[in-house]
Amino acid sequence: MPTNNPPGALDDTIVALASAPGRGAIALVRVSGPDALSIAARHVSPWSSHPREARLCTIHNAGEALDQALVTVFPGPDSFTGDDVVEISTHGGLLVPASVIAALISSGARQASPGEFTRRAVLNGKLDLLQAEAIGDLIDAQSHTMRRAALGQLDGGLSRRLMALRQDLIELEALIAYDIDFPEEDDGPVPRERIDSAIQSLGSGLERLLATAPIGELIREGAVVVIAGAPNVGKSSLFNALVGRSRAIVTEIPGTTRDAIEAVIGGGTWPLRLVDTAGLRSTSDVVERMGIEVSERYLSQAHVVLACADSDQGLEQTSGLVQRLASAPVLRVRTKADLVSNGNEVSRLPDAIPVSAEDGRGLQELVAAIDETLRKTHGQIIPDAPMLTSARHRYAIEAARSEILQFEHAWREEKLPPTVASVHLRAAVVSLEELIGSIDVEDVFDRVFSSFCVGK
Ligand code: GDP
Repeated sequence: MPTNNPPGALDDTIVALASAPGRGAIALVRVSGPDALSIAARHVSPWSSHPREARLCTIHNAGEALDQALVTVFPGPDSFTGDDVVEISTHGGLLVPASVIAALISSGARQASPGEFTRRAVLNGKLDLLQAEAIGDLIDAQSHTMRRAALGQLDGGLSRRLMALRQDLIELEALIAYDIDFPEEDDGPVPRERIDSAIQSLGSGLERLLATAPIGELIREGAVVVIAGAPNVGKSSLFNALVGRSRAIVTEIPGTTRDAIEAVIGGGTWPLRLVDTAGLRSTSDVVERMGIEVSERYLSQAHVVLACADSDQGLEQTSGLVQRLASAPVLRVRTKADLVSNGNEVSRLPDAIPVSAEDGRGLQELVAAIDETLRKTHGQIIPDAPMLTSARHRYAIEAARSEILQFEHAWREEKLPPTVASVHLRAAVVSLEELIGSIDVEDVFDRVFSSFCVGK
């Protein structure tokens, strides 16, 4: 009988489609849990529990053959989740994998909830929470930089850095405890300088990590690049040309009014969230008079603005106006460069970037200029260095740093007895442990796994 255990329970067997649903050569059905082998054995012929060996089998239910599929058994704990796992590679499409899943459910497996396989891997100690998050980020990665950052996190780069900081914190706690318990011992109390320098090095370790957050979050979310300019200067064409070049995923902004189109392109160093504000006029009077199409909403979020015009005069006007409205750096983009006859300069403005949506000229240079602008304003991405890539990471490190500052204050001012002050050190440790997931905090887990897809 199907069970009704809540997500997070480890004592039942879960099943889900691990590959994307729909037409495709192969679909992967994954079963994990204490009864995975016995449940699968009822539907697989010939059955063999020989580990990690793909075998061609018939999948059947109630005497009817459902498919021919490759079946691989991963006995726990040497599996992704740490439980017994069976992976069945069926033919793709909708009906075949759904029938196989239904058969497994009829024998006692439960449909997995989003991220439940990975959640089990964390609860079984196969991954920490940061590594689990990295899997989600790898799946969602929209740029090579994000893929690389996620892979580093999956490899444990950030976890190791945090574990080292946690260890330093615990050593500081021990020093304080020693100081309290044995002030008159032979060695005498712990020298103040030793504690001072431990506090300092912890504080700067956390600061260094926090300093990676703006870049990390930008890599994850993408830098907002707003295309602004008068109607008909070629904004939409430029948007399409840039998107087309990098085969981007075009997503409409959710909301009731379609006020902008957004696409993420990942061809450069940074993922860029390109925003085309076509067909939209700002409510600002000046903008209205000059007929410049910008969305103030996006302008305020922009990391870079592309001021576009198809003449130098238009470019001066547009960039001047946009510079007044936006705090982000503005790049001057001279559109329709292909229309300029041979031998003539496209633009007399030295900083204008000539582009053509028609023949593709200048597009690569434009992406390089955006990358360079972001590097100037946000700093260099240090490849493979651990970084904080989400608000969850940043909040936890900020909380730990604030606790250490409070401890430092109490320690220096000698306002609180060290036993009381060291409560702040404990709180900092807990903050790091929650971040790594070494302590099971239900709502933290729920938040992390809520964005996962089913079957992961
Ligand atoms: P928007 O209103 O600023 O979004 O402008 P569009 O992208 O709709 O383009 C306006 C007109 O300019 C259209 O007829 C386009 O075909 C044309 N256009 C846009 N970009 C180029 C270009 O790079 N070269 C040429 N020759 N024409 C362009």
